Formats: sequence, C-alpha cells, structure tokens
Amino acid sequence: ANPVYAGLGTTVFETMSRLARQHQAVNLGQGFPDDRGPAAVLERAAKALLEGSNQYPPMLGLPELRQAVAAHAQRFYGVAVDWESETMVTSGATEALAATIFSLVEPGDEVVLIEPFYDAYLPLVQRAGAIPRFVSLTPPHWRLERADLVAAVSPRTKAIIVNNPMNPTGRVFDVDEMALIAEIAEGADAFVIADEVYEHIVFDGMHHRSLLAQPGLRDRVIKLGSAGKTFSLTGWKVGYVTAVPHVLGVIAKAHQFLTFTTPPNLQMAVAYGLTQSDDYFRDLAADMQRRRDRFIAGLQHLGLDVLLCQGTYFANIDIAKLGQATAGQADDVAFCRDLVERQGVAAIPLSAFYSARPVRSVIRFCFAKQDQVLDAALERLAGLA
Ligand code: PMP
Ligand code: GLN
Repeated sequence: ANPVYAGLGTTVFETMSRLARQHQAVNLGQGFPDDRGPAAVLERAAKALLEGSNQYPPMLGLPELRQAVAAHAQRFYGVAVDWESETMVTSGATEALAATIFSLVEPGDEVVLIEPFYDAYLPLVQRAGAIPRFVSLTPPHWRLERADLVAAVSPRTKAIIVNNPMNPTGRVFDVDEMALIAEIAEGADAFVIADEVYEHIVFDGMHHRSLLAQPGLRDRVIKLGSAGKTFSLTGWKVGYVTAVPHVLGVIAKAHQFLTFTTPPNLQMAVAYGLTQSDDYFRDLAADMQRRRDRFIAGLQHLGLDVLLCQGTYFANIDIAKLGQATAGQADDVAFCRDLVERQGVAAIPLSAFYSARPVRSVIRFCFAKQDQVLDAALERLAGLA
C-alpha cells in the first residue's frame, strides 16, 4: 500500500462512533446534528428525486446551485463571483479539499497546517507528496501568533490551510489574525485554502468574515463550503468551491476524475436552501447558540473547565485538573476511552487533531443535539469533576 495509508489508523470519528454504539453511549463525539434538517430543503430534494432529476448532472454542478453559491458570496461577504468560471460543486467539502490539494500542490511543496486541524488535511497533503509545516495553537485562547506563522512559511510554501470557524477549537479568527494570514500568504506567494464549512455557525452576534473578502487575497483564496453544515444534513455530502477562474479550472481537472459529479436532486435542494431568506441563516446560528449555552452551562454547573466557543458546534473542556488526569500527565485518548466505557458518553480527544500531540488535556463534545440528549449526557458526566 502507499505508505501514507499503510501507516494510518481508522479516523477517530468512526472509531468513537463505533465505541459509542458498542457501549450504548450518548454520542457527542463525531460532529453531526441529530435533528431532521430543514423541511423545505428536504421536500425540494424529494421532489427533484421523484421528478426524475437522477442522471449525471453537468460536471461542474447544476447551474442553479452554482448561481446560488455566487449569489451567497455577494449577499454575505460582498464579493462578486462569476458563477460560470468561479464556482464548482463537489461531493462534500472533503472532495473539494482533495481536488484542491491534489491539483495545486506538487511533490516537494510545503503546505502550512494550523493545528489542531481537521483530520482529513494531513493525509491529503502527504499523499500529494508535500511536506506539512505545522503551526500549533494552544488552549485556552488558541491564538494564531505571527512568529509561529512566519516560522512555518518558506519559499517552498504552496498553500496555507485555514479552517475558520475552526473545528475543533470553536475559535473564530479576529480581524488581526485574518490580516496576518493575508500578509503572510501574499508574502509567500501561497494559496489560502479557506475551509469555511461552519460559516453560518457563529455566535454572540458575530458574523463570519470570509477570507474571500480579505483585501489582497481574492486571487489566491480557494473558499470551501458545505451543505452538510449549513443545512444540518451531513450525510448529503454536497460541497462547493469558489476561486478565480484559472485556479478553479485546475481544481476542476482533479474533480472530474475523483467523483465527476454530485447527486443532482441534492444539488437542486441545496440551491433552494442557499437562496432562502436571511431568517434561515439567523435561526441556524441562534438555534446552535441556544444549544451551546444550555450545554456549556450544564458542564460548568458540574465544575468542568469549559473553553471559549465562538463558532462551530463543538465545545471543549480541559481535563488537566480532573482527578483522573493530573496536570501535565493528562491523556485525552485514554480519558475518552474511559468516558465512553464507564460514563457512557462519547467525546473526541483533541490530540487526534495534532501532528505530535503537544496538547493532551482537551476533549471535544458536539452539542448539535436535542435538549434531552444533551441533558442525558450531562447527567452521565455528573461526578467527573
Ligand atoms: N472541514 C471541516 C473543518 C469539517 O469539520 C468537515 C466536516 N466533516 C469537513 C471539512 C467535511 O465536510 P463534508 O462533510 O461536506 O465533506
Ligand atoms: N466533521 C465532523 C467532525 O469533526 C465529522 C467528520 C467525519 O466523521 N469524517 O466531527
């Protein structure tokens, strides 16, 4: 087997969901909402499926959805996007990541990863033959520091992958960090792969700022979005890419031989979804924020050390001060294993998102769940602190 895959274990999400089933645990590990998703979007998909929208759609995606992606960039970020030359539909943001990395990155290039990073990034970068350079963010503030980013770039830097809002930290980068990314990317003449799948899950009155709108970056940003997150339909695997024409054109070359297309009925429904009124997007954020507040208040009530959560549907706790894990010796992996087996709650150890496990005392919970599920988890977590 290719050495990149031969040495890999199973992704932590699959492993934890499997353990959760085995131990009948409340699964707050793998990130997915447990509600049905927006009825109007589901109805569009069902209608399109029954009315015969089931053959190969155009390779770049249905015009309706690509137009909706372009209009969405204008509406939310004030960025003019030409749907025909600058947008493409993919089978999830995951395929968009693969197509982007495989088409833009060459063997020997360097790619900067900001850790903790979403676990799909590293194998894709390595399979492309590139050398990963890591910038480590650490709790409790997860701040992107100039010196660290500067140290990670070199004349061989081809791309910087930026996930904002950031899974698993729940961070939303501020204007200074955004400007820093732009300055460093321009200086290094590097692409910025902007994984913005949680763009509509931002809290406390904040609004997501897209790197697509960052001054100076329009020509070098590849923006990725996902219907899985924006419509709480993670199983659909409908993603979208936005980039300037010559960049998008190359990414499309990779896409045509990865998946070629994405189910047209789902594309129709997502096109409808993206063109809904602002109320939909506001309600999504408000609903997630309500769950965040409920869950975090519960964790704090139990005496747990909850970290800041500005966006995404993930909340982290620091376990360093808990009895089972004395400071400095915490092991988040063992902790999560115990938690699912003994307490019956599945979570994700954050060290799974680092290259060298510099942080081992933080675990992640997904709070995109029904109230009674969150309450059941909190009940099982009682006595932990
Ligand atoms: N990037 C991040 C940061 C994610 O959390 C996810 C969700 N799994 C993805 C990409 C992949 O999205 P999709 O399910 O659309 O492939
Ligand atoms: N994005 C989700 C998470 O971070 C899960 C993705 C997956 O299961 N591959 O939990």
